Amino acid sequence: LNIQKFDIVSLITETTEQLIDKAKKNNISLTTNLKNNSAIFVKADRLKIQQVLINLIDNSLKYGKMNGKTTISVFPLIDQILVEVTDNGYGIEEKNLSRVFERFYRTDKSRSRDIGGSGLGLAIVKHILEAHQQTVNVRSTEGIGTTFGFTLAKSKTN
Ligand code: ATP
Ligand code: MG
Repeated sequence: LNIQKFDIVSLITETTEQLIDKAKKNNISLTTNLKNNSAIFVKADRLKIQQVLINLIDNSLKYGKMNGKTTISVFPLIDQILVEVTDNGYGIEEKNLSRVFERFYRTDKSRSRDIGGSGLGLAIVKHILEAHQQTVNVRSTEGIGTTFGFTLAKSKTN
């Protein structure tokens, strides 16, 4: 890992801008809860965290509804921050929820809908966060949507 201090707010802004065209093609609006100009410094591998964000946002676009919405939010904790990617897509059945981080695992729904993918995105996400000694989790309600959340270490020196 190449651990460095960086502003997670600008990384999220940069990454959402990169994915805005893909979102438009899927008719999904991409928004954040971030106030511009308020930097939040974290200590992590910037490129790898960008890969995490891309994988989670990409999923929200692939498994979202037409005219759906994806929101990326940052919540400050004590020594960490929590980043959440929330969609209002078709959701993940309770019985499959614990399996989505497994390599090559794809739910029946995503396989039968012919949505491309290899089932590796979330395994990579989990691997990257574990390497940072941070966590990733998911909650979902079928027909309502899904939220993936991960933590990062705050930088103590701004
Ligand atoms: P890849 O990311 O390798 O292109 P993939 O998207 O199928 O392929 P993962 O990102 O690992 O693989 O996701 C695993 C499975 O979890 C998906 O196939 C899908 O069934 C389910 N899934 C992931 N994200 C969501 C989501 N936001 N909403 C609904 N289902 C999801
Ligand atoms: Mg994926």
